Amino acid sequence: MPHAVGSRFRRFRVPFLPHLFRSTRRNSAPMVFKAVALNAIALASVPLLTNHVGAQQPTTPPAASVASTDPRVEKLKAEALQMVEGRSKQVQEIVDMLFSFQELGFQEFETQKYITTLLQKEGFTVEKGVAGIPSSWTAKWSYGTGKPEISLGSDVDGIPQASSKPGVGYRDPMIQGGPGHGEGHNSGQAVNIVAAIVVKQLMQRDKINGTILLWPGIAEEQMAGKAFLVRAGIFKNTDVTLFTHVGNDLGVSWGASGSSALISAEFKFRGESAHAAGAPWRGKSALDAVMLMAQGWEFRREHIRLQQRSHYVIRDGGDQPNVVPSTASIWFYFREQDYPRTMELFEIGKRVAAGAAMMTDTQLDTVNILGSGWSAHFSKPIAEAMHQNVVKVGMPKWDDKDQALAKGLQKELGSPDFGLSEQVNKELRGAATPQNWTGGGSDDIGDVAWNMPTITLRYPSNIPGLPGHNWANAIAMATPIAHKGAVAGAKVQALTMLDIFMTPKVVTDAWDYFNNVQTKDTKYKPFIRPFDQPPTYLNADIMARFREQQRKFYYDPTKFKSYLEQLGIEYPTVRAAETKPRGDNN
Ligand SMILES: [Zn+2]
Repeated sequence: MPHAVGSRFRRFRVPFLPHLFRSTRRNSAPMVFKAVALNAIALASVPLLTNHVGAQQPTTPPAASVASTDPRVEKLKAEALQMVEGRSKQVQEIVDMLFSFQELGFQEFETQKYITTLLQKEGFTVEKGVAGIPSSWTAKWSYGTGKPEISLGSDVDGIPQASSKPGVGYRDPMIQGGPGHGEGHNSGQAVNIVAAIVVKQLMQRDKINGTILLWPGIAEEQMAGKAFLVRAGIFKNTDVTLFTHVGNDLGVSWGASGSSALISAEFKFRGESAHAAGAPWRGKSALDAVMLMAQGWEFRREHIRLQQRSHYVIRDGGDQPNVVPSTASIWFYFREQDYPRTMELFEIGKRVAAGAAMMTDTQLDTVNILGSGWSAHFSKPIAEAMHQNVVKVGMPKWDDKDQALAKGLQKELGSPDFGLSEQVNKELRGAATPQNWTGGGSDDIGDVAWNMPTITLRYPSNIPGLPGHNWANAIAMATPIAHKGAVAGAKVQALTMLDIFMTPKVVTDAWDYFNNVQTKDTKYKPFIRPFDQPPTYLNADIMARFREQQRKFYYDPTKFKSYLEQLGIEYPTVRAAETKPRGDNN
């Protein structure tokens, strides 16, 4: 009954207030950061990353949800479930295609071309190179009033040296030393795209108002995309963001996440070159400054909060030993619980760098912020609505082959070989106590989540018990495990979109929570400074080395039913039970 659905929606549009809330938020212009009260809401802990070992979290009993039980919504949801299921083949193709591109952050150009072509054919308006990031894009489609607007995001970048043959339960690179999807970021766009196509069809047929905006998490591993997307205003009309990230369960949570806030900063030192043997006394080594900064940080580490995470790599340590290095740089990630604590770590880092320069009579040339992110806080009303859909959809049905790959890989890594999870958690995970926050990985979805009601849907496309950012995390990512997990994710995403489009109260409640709970005492202020630009040169050198080799492995769905078939891999390929696992899992 298309007409009935439309008029019902209009009836609700009168008290539909998100934009009143929003103008209040946007007018609170001076972005003054207030210390976060250590209350339960601000400091909950929710593991976001696949293998994040987070704090024990209390769960909240299923709340009286605002999700509609309107029979017309229920009927649309039943149709959406079938329509997503009918697009399982498309999910498989997108997942396998992105896996085969194996692109690193800021170099996701094949991914961009493939996805934007697909979405353009589906009637979305595509814009490429948004926010000064050449590999970025948005794809938008509106119906009627265009309100509310839902944004659907997911990361697309890979991990260096993670190239792996899918479906093979031990270390066996496709390209030696090449990048790969060792974080599973090849799967989330399939979740969003298929959900978007299905919901768009229903909106057209039943005349449902709204806008769908799709976007990629570019260079998430460098934490260098989303703050720039926010700054560029791509979300200026967005009411709710449904982000999605690969995991090994199907679920959503609300409140402060377990992820850390982060500043990624590069410290460049400048010295004076000299013949390292002929006249070393005339040289001033920038490398010495880099090494002393690293040493200084290691001593300092003892006297900073246990919850911090900090780590570094040296990408420029000089050219050759007989030339005293006149330039050198060290790249740090500083992670802490929130904005002020992360800024404090960064300030310590700058002082340690200044000390290192003083000791070596070199100069601290520049300190570049290469990436950043807030620790996310997720919307309670949206999480509650989505959780009902999670329970409705449930985990995929794994078969013996899926479980054999999972167990084989877990055994190979010396992890408990319990295989894949079969059940969703019936309880919605929510806010924890401040004491539970232990620190961990980061995701720059935090910057989005502090600008509008946002959640992250985890969908079960990977195997539990893996190290993360590792070749092993790529193994499942172009197999039926990834495909089935992404179909389940697309179903939940589609159903939640229908809740948001059809039930205005979901959106008003989300903005009420955003304005009156989440941002009551904490106002967003980006880590990036007005002059900071996305470091889009990152990874260009690595991709230049591997791109030609990779090209011959790009998936061709016109010839092969799956990427496994194209590669001639028998699924699953695991070590025979009697073989001892190798020790060299690197
Ligand atoms: Zn990720």
